[in-house]
Amino acid sequence: MLIECHSCEAVVDAKELCTNDAESQFITDIAVGLYQCPSCHTSLVGIKAGEESYPPKVERVWPEPKNKFHESIPTAVRKSLENAKRCYDAKVYSATAVMCGKAIEFIVSDKTNISNLFQGLKELKAKEIIDARLYEWSEALRKERNIGAHAIETEINRQDANDILDFAVAICEYVYVLTDKYNAYLSRKENSEKQST
Ligand SMILES: [Zn+2]
Repeated sequence: MLIECHSCEAVVDAKELCTNDAESQFITDIAVGLYQCPSCHTSLVGIKAGEESYPPKVERVWPEPKNKFHESIPTAVRKSLENAKRCYDAKVYSATAVMCGKAIEFIVSDKTNISNLFQGLKELKAKEIIDARLYEWSEALRKERNIGAHAIETEINRQDANDILDFAVAICEYVYVLTDKYNAYLSRKENSEKQST
């Protein structure tokens, strides 16, 4: 069974030690398995969810993957964040900033009709999609992205790249994850009020 081994940092053909049986799959709708990496022998927990893939592959849930971003974040934004994380792990800090910039650019084009990042961020703030603090962060991020994207002598260091990545994740979580949660909370409240009247 193919699964990503965190210690080998590779997709490995792992030995399946055990899985939950068909009966419990009926209840939980997901198949959980314990796997062992053939190379380093570490234990991994994976889930088989949704459609079967070929060759069969499971998604590692433990140890928790580092590149995991919330599913409320649109795929294009998530991809940019994942790429940013990969660049960071590979110590390519200018590319980290560029990928974070891409994530923010997508938010701007998703939430406004503006293609210019500078103007778009202002619009996000004006529409109260982001607050003043996040606006400052996103401005800092935009400037670092420009340093990363252009052939100028200033290099982005590890600490700055790490901060930019944190900012980007925070902005995406604020715009998509928390907003979704809050809206779900509001509609739950509304429904329970309707039922009680
Ligand atoms: Zn391994």
